[in-house]
Amino acid sequence: MRILLIEDDDDIAGRLATGLQPAGFVVERADNGEDGYELGAAGSFDAVILDLGLPNMEGLAVLRKWRAEGRDMPTLILTARGTWTEKVEGLNAGADDYITKPFHIPEVVARLRALIRRKSGVATPLLTHKAIALDTVAGKASVNGAPVELTGLELRMLSYFMHRIGRVISQSELMEHLYALEGSAESNTIEVYISRLRRKLGRDVITTVRGLGYRMD
Ligand code: CA
Repeated sequence: MRILLIEDDDDIAGRLATGLQPAGFVVERADNGEDGYELGAAGSFDAVILDLGLPNMEGLAVLRKWRAEGRDMPTLILTARGTWTEKVEGLNAGADDYITKPFHIPEVVARLRALIRRKSGVATPLLTHKAIALDTVAGKASVNGAPVELTGLELRMLSYFMHRIGRVISQSELMEHLYALEGSAESNTIEVYISRLRRKLGRDVITTVRGLGYRMD
């Protein structure tokens, strides 16, 4: 899952990036409102963590602008200002949830997961599709009730597909959402992981759509 983090405080941003990575999130950061707005307007993110007090452009202005343009990515407001009026203002501006500093990483992770689940119309952390079950909190998968050992990246890829049943997903979309930009991967590694998932979960679990990508249905 690819997260846009807009936060000007280096310590907080560093803590979030370090904490979110092991939970399977790829974090891209902007340290001011203007850059954050541009990134969010141009890229595709599964969720946004948005600070309110930002240089160049206030967090609320960034959010209002996106929403006015029809950008609906789930947005979690992160703010030191814990007053109820600001929470109300944030939610009214189009935020989906908020978290008050100081925060605990597991709470941020849980809230992000909940937002992403809700966006894809899934209400519980246990995703099921045909014979496959995936517990996104425990990071465990099974086929017909039998546990299947998956690596971190295989789990992330399976989760990405299971949040998008019936949709064609291109190789570049998978690369963008599953790898951090620095650790860029080659497109053939996506094929390798797809074939591993097929081997572990069943041959027909993921369909290749010629010239377009892959689909789980
Ligand atoms: Ca700030």
